[in-house]
Amino acid sequence: MAFDVESSKPLTAIVIGTGFSGLGMAVGLKKAGIDSFVILERAAAVGGTWRDNHYPGCACDVQSHLYSFSFEPNPEWTRRYARQPEIEAYLQKAANKYALMQHVRFGANVVEARFDEGAALWQVKTADGRVFSAQMLISGMGGLSNPAYPKLPGIEHFRGKAFHSAAWDHSYDLAGKRVAVIGTGASAIQFVPQIVGQVAQLDLYQRTPPWIVPKPDRPISETERHWFKRLPLLQRFFRLGIYCAMETRVLGFVLNPKLMLLVQKLALSHIARQIKAPELRKKVTPDYTIGCKRVLISNDYYPALTRANVDVVTDAIREVREHSIITNDGIERPIDAIIYGTGFSIQTMIPRGMMFGRKGVDLVDVWTQGPQAYLGAAVPGFPNLFMLMGPNTGLGHTSQVYMIESQIHYVLDCLRTMRRQGAAAVEVRPEVYQRFNEGLQKQLVNTIWASGCKSWYVNDNGRNTTLWPGFTFRFRSKTRRFKASDYVLEKAPASVIA
Ligand SMILES: Cc1cc2nc3c(=O)[nH]c(=O)nc-3n(C[C@H](O)[C@H](O)[C@H](O)COP(=O)(O)OP(=O)(O)OC[C@H]3O[C@@H](n4cnc5c(N)ncnc54)[C@H](O)[C@@H]3O)c2cc1C
Repeated sequence: MAFDVESSKPLTAIVIGTGFSGLGMAVGLKKAGIDSFVILERAAAVGGTWRDNHYPGCACDVQSHLYSFSFEPNPEWTRRYARQPEIEAYLQKAANKYALMQHVRFGANVVEARFDEGAALWQVKTADGRVFSAQMLISGMGGLSNPAYPKLPGIEHFRGKAFHSAAWDHSYDLAGKRVAVIGTGASAIQFVPQIVGQVAQLDLYQRTPPWIVPKPDRPISETERHWFKRLPLLQRFFRLGIYCAMETRVLGFVLNPKLMLLVQKLALSHIARQIKAPELRKKVTPDYTIGCKRVLISNDYYPALTRANVDVVTDAIREVREHSIITNDGIERPIDAIIYGTGFSIQTMIPRGMMFGRKGVDLVDVWTQGPQAYLGAAVPGFPNLFMLMGPNTGLGHTSQVYMIESQIHYVLDCLRTMRRQGAAAVEVRPEVYQRFNEGLQKQLVNTIWASGCKSWYVNDNGRNTTLWPGFTFRFRSKTRRFKASDYVLEKAPASVIA
C-alpha cells in the first residue's frame, strides 16, 4: 500500500482545496482534536476563489458580514461588499490563526483518488507523483474553480493577447487597446466598468443580458468598525439581520415566482435610470423572468456601457481572425485582446478519470443524469468521500459559506459517529440517496430556475444539478446530525486493525 511519504501510517483525512471549504473543514478538524490530515492544494497559496479572481473590481455580492466564517467574525471589513484583496487576506489570516499552513501541501494537483476496498482507505495521487493515503476524503475543490472557455471558431488563429477573468494578466497594459470582452456574467459586470476608462475600444459580446439590480454598497465607517470590535454581539446581530433579509428572497425564487415580478420592476427602473439610449436599453433588457439566471448587483455597469468607446454586440461570433472578430452580420471588429468573462465549467466539477469508488467505478459514470449527491456530499459506492459545495448546494440568494459550514458540521459529526461505533467506512444507502434527489428535483420543478431560460444551473438533460431549492436553514437542519441509519457502517478490515 502506498502512503503519504511524510507519514508512516494513513491519515485520518485528506482535504482538497484551500478556499472557504477546505480551510473551514481544516479548522473543524483541528477543533475536533484531529491533527492527522493534509490539505492538498494545486496552487501556491491559500484562498481558492479569492486567490484566483483578482481581476479589477472583483468583490463579493453577498455582504461580507455574512459572507465569512461564523466562527471567525471580522469587525474590520471596510465595505459592505468587501473587495477581493480583503477577502483573500481574511482567508490567509484564518489559515495562519488556526495553524493550518503546516497541513497544506502546495503544488499538489490531485489527479486521481481511488478507494481501496481491502484497506478501507482513499489513495490520492497528485500530478507530481506524490501519493497520500487516508480514511476520509473531503473535497473542497469548489464549483467555480475551473474557468470555462467558449468554443470560438478560428480562435487558434488569434495573434493578440487573451486571458480569462479568473486568470487576469495584470502585466498586460490595457491602455489604448481595442478589447473584446466575451460574456456578461457576474465577473464581466465587475471588471468592465474598471477597464472601460483605459481602453481605446471595448466590444462587449453578449449572448444573454443578465438582470441587474442596484448594489447597496458603501464603506463601513471607522466608528461602525470600532463598535463591531467593542461589541461582538452587535456584529452577530448585524450578521443575523443580513441573513434573515437574504433568506426572504427564497419566497420569490422557490415558493411564489410571481413575487419576482416586483424585483423585475426594480431592475427595469434601474435600466431606465442609468441608460437613456432606447437601442442600448433594449439590448440590455432580458427577455426571461428575473431570477431564472443569477441576479446580479451593480451600480456602475450600465453607465460604463453608455460610454462612446463601448459597443454592446449581440450578434453571435462567426469567426475569430488573427487580429479581429467577425460576427454573423458580417461586421469585422479589429482587436488587440480578448478577455473571457465566461465563467466556470460547473457541470464537470469532478472530471472523468479522477474519482474512483468501489470496484474502480468512475464517479462520472454514476452520474449519468449529471452530478447528484446526498446532502450535496455523499454518493453510494464512494465510502468515506464527502464533497463540500457538491451537487445542489449552490445558492442564488445568500452566502455560500453558510452551506459550506453546514456540511463541515455534518462531516465532523460523521467522524464522531464512526469513532463511537468503531466504523472504518460509511457509505450512504442507495435508497436514501435516490429518495433525497428525487425529492430535490420535484421541488425544483416549480421554481423560478425552471421558468424557461438557459442557465448554468441546469445541465443538458434539463436537470438542475447546482442549486439548493429552498431556505438554507432547512439544509442546516438536515445536516445538523449525521444519521447513521442513512448509511451502511463497516467495521475496520482485519488487516487494518492488525
Ligand atoms: C468571482 C466570484 C465571486 C463570488 N462571490 C460570491 C459571493 O459574493 N457570495 C457567495 O456566496 N459566493 C460567491 N462566489 C462563489 C464562491 O465560489 C464560493 O462562495 C466559495 O468561495 C467557494 O469556496 P470553495 O472552497 O468551495 O471553492 P474555491 O474557493 O473554488 O476553492 C477550491 C480550491 O480547490 C483547489 N483545487 C481545485 N481542484 C483541485 C485539484 N484537483 N487538486 C488540488 N486542488 C484543487 C483550487 O485551487 C482552490 O484553491 C463567488 C465566486 C466567484 C468566482
